[in-house]
Amino acid sequence: MLYPWGNNRRFNSYPDYLRKIFGNRVQKVTLDAGFTCPNRDGTKGKGGCTFCLNDAFSPSYCSPDKPIGQQIREGIEFHGKRYRRATQYLAYFQAYSNTYLPLARLKQLYDEAMAHDAVAGLVIGTRPDCVDNEKLDYFAQLSEKTYLILEYGVESVYDNTLQRINRGHTFADSVNAIKDTARRGIKTGCHMIIGLPGETPEQIIDSASVLSSLPLTTIKFHQLQIFRGTQMEKEYRENPGEFRLFSPDEYLSFMAEYIIRLNPGFVIERIAGETPPRYAAVNRWGPRYDEILLRFEKNLEKMDYWQGKKFNMSKLFI
Ligand code: SF4
Repeated sequence: MLYPWGNNRRFNSYPDYLRKIFGNRVQKVTLDAGFTCPNRDGTKGKGGCTFCLNDAFSPSYCSPDKPIGQQIREGIEFHGKRYRRATQYLAYFQAYSNTYLPLARLKQLYDEAMAHDAVAGLVIGTRPDCVDNEKLDYFAQLSEKTYLILEYGVESVYDNTLQRINRGHTFADSVNAIKDTARRGIKTGCHMIIGLPGETPEQIIDSASVLSSLPLTTIKFHQLQIFRGTQMEKEYRENPGEFRLFSPDEYLSFMAEYIIRLNPGFVIERIAGETPPRYAAVNRWGPRYDEILLRFEKNLEKMDYWQGKKFNMSKLFI
């Protein structure tokens, strides 16, 4: 059976999406350009989101002490050994909030990344409160010349959750930023955390319908991971009963129920997170991401589920 995204996989997968655009395997090279974020420097808050541990997401070649060009060269070498078929790369500005500098400086950093021959585009991770009209107009121009996507950390659609994790912005901020971005013809991505404290399974499932009404290109899910040394670890130690940590099997069954309600037009970039076990304070998952993905697809097959099977356009309410 061919699904709405044009192949027989049961969800709209990121590698297939990239292959359609670029014609071959494309790999992301993660960069740390030395940004900070308004939730750490005191503009919005101090201490950051309660779950945040940026080290847990950065590969070894990534360091703000190295110029962007060097990080790209080393990143390509790193991935070249693992993904031999990749000939093109997307420069992934990942660490902290990668639009949180004056536009002139941003342009220098992005230009430096684009200067490498193998770089075919930009993926820029940021917060919804770190873009403005001037920056979005610039991104709109840039995205006419190259592949570009702005990935927003949305994390939850519930303001009381966002407050509890000290996010420093509301869901309405995310909706506005995503709409302002998409309106200019720029691709938009969003990152969600599944299982944040205080959210019931029903609320999390309902968020699939809420998000489905947004003009998103890609979406990325991480199960809640509690990292060593974070404020969230402290809260967990004090009140473990308030946290619902999924085992891999529970999570994959849950996400099957989630994605059948998700807009089939969204490309699912990740279904779960994968971080080095040494950073996990609790609930370390054994299987690697490839294995997780395989199990997820088997689950979908067994249940005869696919992304958007229960997606109902008439229920959209934003
Ligand atoms: S998760 Fe992102 S927004 Fe939150 S503190 Fe960390 S870098 Fe800042």
